Amino acid sequence: MPFQAPSERVKNFKEVALGYTSTLATEEARRCLQCKKPGCVAGCPVEVPIPQFIAHVAEGRIEEAYKVIKSTNSLPAICGRVCPQEIQCEGSCILVKKGQPIAIGRLERFVADEFLHRDACDLLGDSDRQACPLINTDKKVACIGSGPSSLTVAGYLATRGCKVTVFEALHEPGGVLIYGIPEFRLPKTAIVHKEIHALKQMQVDFELNAVAGKTFSIQELFDQGYKAVFLGVGAGLPRFLNIPGENSIGVFSANEYLTRANLGRAYDFPNYATPTYCGRNVTVYGGGNVAMDAARTALRLGAERVSIVYRRLVEDMPARHEEIEHAIEEGVQMECLAAPLKFISDEEGKLCAVKLQRMQLGDPDESGRRSPKPIHDSTYELETDLAIVAVGTRSNPLLLENEPQLETNKWGYVVVNDDTCETTMPNVFAGGDIVTGAATVILAAGAGRKAAKEIAQRLGCE
Ligand code: FAD
Ligand code: SF4
Repeated sequence: MPFQAPSERVKNFKEVALGYTSTLATEEARRCLQCKKPGCVAGCPVEVPIPQFIAHVAEGRIEEAYKVIKSTNSLPAICGRVCPQEIQCEGSCILVKKGQPIAIGRLERFVADEFLHRDACDLLGDSDRQACPLINTDKKVACIGSGPSSLTVAGYLATRGCKVTVFEALHEPGGVLIYGIPEFRLPKTAIVHKEIHALKQMQVDFELNAVAGKTFSIQELFDQGYKAVFLGVGAGLPRFLNIPGENSIGVFSANEYLTRANLGRAYDFPNYATPTYCGRNVTVYGGGNVAMDAARTALRLGAERVSIVYRRLVEDMPARHEEIEHAIEEGVQMECLAAPLKFISDEEGKLCAVKLQRMQLGDPDESGRRSPKPIHDSTYELETDLAIVAVGTRSNPLLLENEPQLETNKWGYVVVNDDTCETTMPNVFAGGDIVTGAATVILAAGAGRKAAKEIAQRLGCE
């Protein structure tokens, strides 16, 4: 797939990957062996009928391909861009053995992009099409949070005639798709806004700046006539390193840094009024997608040097391979086998350096990865005026503290029935990161689909 050149793309926030042309998509689709027992489908968390949609692409029947994908994946333009395909469908494709699996994610993205401009009801099957505009206002369902899990619930139920309202704490819907993943990986206006617009066309309402647990309770929703409530509130509370100096000026959580850049459009300052901190020597802590996004955002905001500090090696990083490759191509430096000990600030409290400890890899730990151990007498300092901490998140207590009937597990995530996604509160369902802990878009969408099916069955609108 064509990409913007690294030297160009570090100067802008436009999408890095440019997408297949129809010729490239057809050529790629024709490589598929149409396996009788396709490993790719088994590797997909929502079991998209991959060989079938690829066969349609190979024959130029893109609308048919789109319908096949949509039969199990409600957000293909998003998943085609951000799913970790290399460990899912593509990682299980038989052609991995030959070194070049089918580029399933890129084909999915190609198909979805062809149809993004269409009316949401255009492409539904005949039975769905009939139901689409006929919303039954008695079948009221509330979704709390507006990330991929809730958007999936809303889409599934709206096409079956339910009246869905999505309550979102922020001033824009989309969850991490809007506030976390940067524009250069997932365009907001061109992709995420269109998915939300499609839901609005299906009469899904969005109530913004509505904080469940503070501005309203779950019981109040039932009192207002909602028949079911879905909790898709994510796991957005940042974890910190808990080292001295972490409250220096210039130390950010990745959440705050990315939210300013994405949701607040700080990258387009002063056209948008959100200020941000553009460091010169930036250090980012962590090795996941969030760390890559923060590092690449810092480069685009004008940093001279951006280093990712990680206790293990590049090959141990949990981020998608493609994102790591792109970060390195763009000039992000990998400060591996290093752990932060202390942030050092000047007399005004502004961050100026970090003290690091060199590490080596010892025996594998319970996760199977070799565990990092400090090397004696090997600390050193690295100059840094902006530190971004991307070492994970946990559940936000705002809602859970105020809803004691919701049982949580020892990590603070909501307990659900695995078959129905129902919580310990009757007719209250949950899915996505608030159940699994920080995971992926497709797993959140898959959980939303499972919960929506159960809700549809209970409301008699399957
Ligand atoms: P979220 O997307 O977390 O959305 C939850 C929403 O609920 C938020 O909008 C929040 O404001 C709202 N909310 C919270 N509490 C309340 C309340 N009390 N009342 C009302 N609203 C509330 N996954 C991938 O598959 N590929 C990637 O490349 C990838 N990159 C990522 C990059 C970043 C920077 C981050 C942070 C995550 C990334 N992920 C990626 C993970 C993925 O985005 C999440 O797993 C997914 O978005 C979880 O979806 P969700 O539906 O659980 O909720
Ligand atoms: Fe095609 Fe690979 Fe799936 Fe086989 S495993 S059907 S080659 S995508």
